[in-house]
Amino acid sequence: MGMEMTNREKLVLIGNGVAGMNTIEQIMKLDPDKYEITVIGKEPHPNYNRIQLSYLLEGSKTFDEMILNDYSWYERNGVTLCAGIAAERIDLASKFVHMSDGTTVSYDRLLIATGSKPFMLPIPGIDKEGIVGFRDVQDCERMKAAASTCRKAAVIGGGLLGLEAAKGLLKLGMEVTVVHLFSDLMERQLDTTASTMLRAELEGQGLRFLMNKKTVEISGDERVKSLRFEDGTELETDFLVMAAGIVPDTALARECGLETARGIIVNDYMQTSDTHVYAVGECNQHRGVSYGLVAPLFEQGSVLAKHLCGVPTEPYQGSVVSTKLKISGVDVFSAGEFQDAPGLDVIRTQDNWSKTYKKVLLRDNRIVGCVLFGDVHDSAQLFKWVKAEEAMTREIHEQLTGSAHIEGADPLAFVTAMPADEIVCGCNGVTKGMIVQAITDQGLSTVDEIKACTGASRSCGGCKPMVEQILALTLGDRYEGSKNAVETLCGCTTHSREDVIAAIRDKRLTHVREVMNVLEWHNPEGCTKCRPAINYYIGMVWPEVFEDEKDSRFVNERLHANIQKDGTYSVVPRMYGGVTTPEQLRKIADVADKYEVKMVKVTGGQRLDLLGVKKEDLPHVWEELGMPSGYAYAKAIRTVKTCVGSTFCRFGTQDSISMGILLEKKFERLWMPAKFKMAVNGCPRNCAEAEIKDFGIIGNDGGWEIYVGGNGGVKLRAADLLCKVKTDEELIELAGAFIQFYRETGKYGERTSDWIERIGLQAIIQEIVDNLERRKELVERIEQALQGLHDPWKEVVEQEGLQHQLYETLQVK
Ligand SMILES: Cc1cc2nc3c(=O)[nH]c(=O)nc-3n(C[C@H](O)[C@H](O)[C@H](O)COP(=O)(O)OP(=O)(O)OC[C@H]3O[C@@H](n4cnc5c(N)ncnc54)[C@H](O)[C@@H]3O)c2cc1C
Ligand code: SF4
Repeated sequence: MGMEMTNREKLVLIGNGVAGMNTIEQIMKLDPDKYEITVIGKEPHPNYNRIQLSYLLEGSKTFDEMILNDYSWYERNGVTLCAGIAAERIDLASKFVHMSDGTTVSYDRLLIATGSKPFMLPIPGIDKEGIVGFRDVQDCERMKAAASTCRKAAVIGGGLLGLEAAKGLLKLGMEVTVVHLFSDLMERQLDTTASTMLRAELEGQGLRFLMNKKTVEISGDERVKSLRFEDGTELETDFLVMAAGIVPDTALARECGLETARGIIVNDYMQTSDTHVYAVGECNQHRGVSYGLVAPLFEQGSVLAKHLCGVPTEPYQGSVVSTKLKISGVDVFSAGEFQDAPGLDVIRTQDNWSKTYKKVLLRDNRIVGCVLFGDVHDSAQLFKWVKAEEAMTREIHEQLTGSAHIEGADPLAFVTAMPADEIVCGCNGVTKGMIVQAITDQGLSTVDEIKACTGASRSCGGCKPMVEQILALTLGDRYEGSKNAVETLCGCTTHSREDVIAAIRDKRLTHVREVMNVLEWHNPEGCTKCRPAINYYIGMVWPEVFEDEKDSRFVNERLHANIQKDGTYSVVPRMYGGVTTPEQLRKIADVADKYEVKMVKVTGGQRLDLLGVKKEDLPHVWEELGMPSGYAYAKAIRTVKTCVGSTFCRFGTQDSISMGILLEKKFERLWMPAKFKMAVNGCPRNCAEAEIKDFGIIGNDGGWEIYVGGNGGVKLRAADLLCKVKTDEELIELAGAFIQFYRETGKYGERTSDWIERIGLQAIIQEIVDNLERRKELVERIEQALQGLHDPWKEVVEQEGLQHQLYETLQVK
């Protein structure tokens, strides 16, 4: 091997992974001259960040970006790396390691860090082609290759790894079904509520799930073709990822006679049954536990490095672990205990609208666990409390529940109180002290600079808020991030809505991914907040070239129907102005009978809603109805509610029905920042409730009154009078200008009731009522936006490909 002869002790590491190399790095810091080090690594690569494999799979990171210690690091530090070579046998008596290239290396101290292997279910067919685990770069390559030739993938295992693999394959364009043995996803970290929310979110992103399924056989000739479950059902698939768990890789240790159980047995200093041999990382078993996450490995490595360098150290006493899922748009965090149980008190908040859930568990008033979904800002602090089993106080309770504003509370109190050696970034073992030192010694002032310099927040990103707080604490007023805070589009970027729209316009960006690339999104895949928003903004700025990105839409808008509690859909056909005909009613009745619709309901917007339609029936229902989509599921122009008006009503002064139909036909199908409802009344008696609509019209003797910004939902708001007009033409023109002004200046998701409060009624009046030039421009732009809009139901009915892609059900026999 051409190794230099020195008097230094020989330290050999088997396993060039995270745990082993972190220990070596720490040894180099403590006493660089103590050992002559040889690293034997089976993988033909330098040490890389395994936890980022899902980013490699989906293509958001290159392998080079994942490397932790490149080849030059080994050279610079005088460490001999045998890459692509496996250790095959350990001779404890003569202290030699035999390697796959036929050579041997002797040691004074041996460090085993062989990690884990994927657990492959011991069932018939497991050796067929087209089945991989998810552990290393090679597995990712195989998955990528499969995605280019196969259509359907199955992933066995609904835990952290399985979900990341499934999402990666979905991004690569495969149709992915996750098969899980239990009724809850991530059942070892989440309770049923969080797991249900997670599943709904992932289904919204396009994943399919088969729960409570025990796979008993894999069928196919040479290659996997289908899975058979214990209940007799089957799933067809072209490719299978096994993510049903991991097994510590103890083969070498067991064969040479070291004491092993599930893992290689170690004491509190990572020493095995042979005093010259140590084991660190996922391959070991300490006090009965083998860990499967990186944070404990750093804690073990820290104790071991000190022990090997003769530096006094406390024994390793085990770790409390936390889990964060690294799937874009899904914020999930869990630490310590997570299930309700006798003897535990639970603080729980759930908000189904904002899709957030927070649960904190107490035993004898001490914090012993937590589960967060949707908003994980409190994760770092909660994890610290869980680790310390902090006593619950009124202040902590108020902070957690947001039930009171704590006067004078210092937002940086948490990081101020942290000792310097406390780990901030669990994935990369970076302490508060290392970050503070990087800021002061190297003049760093942004999270990105700290990421590049120390590695903190480089992997899962969970510690980013804490890194920001340490920056603010260390730099004080000099920290730009804490001042001039702009409202960013979401946590994936520092750019505001205005920046994003300006970039779309100025740089002529026309795809969601392009926007995220150009504006250097932190999270290259975006999330469920930013992706639909960007998609909308692109359509608003460039209607003529806009290609709707279905992947960036929520499930309702992607499928053009409203998903219901039981997984069926609701269908609301367009009935202009709330007017229907006997012929339409007959068709609706026939379709309702034929497709066994559970209920036909008249909506608040005067439409008929067919509730309980199966997903696979949707295209047939639409075809047989022959009516356009009512967009009842979308952030778009919804219904125009009308009263009977002058046609029939004794009080009517205006023809509200005709005006309602005209408005609805003119503006239907327009995408909006939020749902947009209209109403037209024939007189001020207001039977169609115009004053709680986004755009409400009341007829009077001399013309029309226009009311805007009303809302009859959760936040009741009476509409404001915008202006009065005399003619129908002027009314349509003002409606167009108003709708377009809102489309251009509304934040995605912001109803007109909030928008008006934000920008002010006067500003709107000046823009579209007083300024005729501006009104004309807005009308021109809305006319352009109205060109080329198609009925989405018709599109699906006419395109078999779309039906197949979006509405075909899972093949479960
Ligand atoms: C896709 C994925 C995502 C993950 N995400 C997270 C996450 O978000 N958070 C988290 O905390 N953890 C995560 N983990 C787990 C984390 O990666 C592991 O806990 C960590 O890598 C374990 O480190 P290790 O050094 O013990 O083992 P490894 O990193 O597996 O390193 C072991 C090395 O030893 C080599 N080896 C084995 N046998 C031999 C031999 N005989 N000779 C030579 N070399 C050998 C292996 O090839 C491997 O390179 C993830 C893991 C995967 C696979
Ligand atoms: S709003 Fe006036 S016109 Fe319309 S139905 Fe009521 S009373 Fe008649």
